[in-house]
Amino acid sequence: MTHIFHRNPALTLPLAVRGEGCYLIDATGQHYFDGSGGAAVSCLGHKHPKVIAAMKRQMETLDYAHTSFFSSEPAEQLASLLAGKSPSTLGNVYFLSGGSEAMETALKMARQYHVENGQPQRCHFVSRRQSYHGNTLGALAIGGNLPRRTLYEPLLMKTTQVSPCFAFRYRLADESDADYIERLGLELEHTFLDLGPDSVAAFVAETVVGATSGAVAPVPGYLARMREVCDRYGVLLILDEVMCGIGRTGSYHAFEQEGVVPDLLILAKGLGGGFQPIGAVMASDRVVQTISRGSGSFQHGHTYVGHPIACAAALAVQQEIIEQNLCATVRSSGELLGGLLDERFGKHSHVGDIRGRGLFWAIELVQDRDGNRPFAPGLRLHAKIKQAAQTHGLLCYPGGGTVDGVTGDHVLLAPPYISTPEQLAFAVDTLAVALDETLAIQ
Ligand code: PLP
Repeated sequence: MTHIFHRNPALTLPLAVRGEGCYLIDATGQHYFDGSGGAAVSCLGHKHPKVIAAMKRQMETLDYAHTSFFSSEPAEQLASLLAGKSPSTLGNVYFLSGGSEAMETALKMARQYHVENGQPQRCHFVSRRQSYHGNTLGALAIGGNLPRRTLYEPLLMKTTQVSPCFAFRYRLADESDADYIERLGLELEHTFLDLGPDSVAAFVAETVVGATSGAVAPVPGYLARMREVCDRYGVLLILDEVMCGIGRTGSYHAFEQEGVVPDLLILAKGLGGGFQPIGAVMASDRVVQTISRGSGSFQHGHTYVGHPIACAAALAVQQEIIEQNLCATVRSSGELLGGLLDERFGKHSHVGDIRGRGLFWAIELVQDRDGNRPFAPGLRLHAKIKQAAQTHGLLCYPGGGTVDGVTGDHVLLAPPYISTPEQLAFAVDTLAVALDETLAIQ
């Protein structure tokens, strides 16, 4: 008997009772390798002694102080650390309690920036199909994840979605990378022009797409082209690195590999590593100075902004990532994981694509490798694979609607940065067992 309104009340979930390094352990004693860190959250695994110690120290000194009265040491230190790891123009941090809140905040920041900048007509937001930016109504309205938005469509503010940069599915057979980018650049430009050349507030994109299509990195040069188009029309670029940021793809910020700097950057999961709920917006000087010189204060706020214990936990997580040079570890372990996936699934008759960066990888399932036809969505293969993998002690993060919000299945792996080669091999072997078992009973 449970009094929790679980995500799916029809399921009986195991009770997680302990976390140890890269494992979660349930009440029966079964160990699960956390191959997706939940939803790409637990970058340092569980029960990390330095993070626990930092949280304890903070609890014993200052638990909470409302940010309209005070700043706090851990929030100041964390903001300084983040600023130090970012381009010099992006050194202004606004803390939140998660990714959706951070996205809502960025949308409002973009809007206020334009109003204070004398352009109050800028109220349109453009994003991409096959993207996810959070589940609160503003963030959901920006996102292009059909299964998550359809039910709420009548409640969502109007936004405009352009094509994703998803070469495996949408680059034409005879199209070069450069031609593909050109096509997407023109589409964005025409969208801005259709909405009104000075009426768009911001273009929003995940640097590397996470849950919606599974570890889809942009074609090299794509984001730089999008930045150019945004600049031409005075549109802010908001990059969502809630899932792909903070080392996950092998660089501290994922955008470092794209040669662009956003105006607003959204961070969450790897920021607190799951030890505490925390998100952040990193804002450019241009945005912050315009708001400061204008009405003076940002018209926004939440009760738990900059919570000292959340900031202390995130500070310890970030210090560990930096001190242990975990971005380099992610790069080398990522190569290993990519190689293992290639070995295991490169010739698999139902794996059409293996893609990823750093420790952020996905396989996409197909009925046939020649046509790359997706399986029928009614089979819900992704859900069955998740269940089969969990039974065998692997937590992974499969999703459906990979191609267009309706068809397609992928499985995402986003293991902790501290995963050993043996653990990565276990993840790949177990995923293969779960996949083959699931396909065998279709
Ligand atoms: N943006 C991206 C790219 C995400 O992957 C997520 C969550 O999965 C969010 C935003 C929303 O974050 P949260 O679930 O912390 O609200």
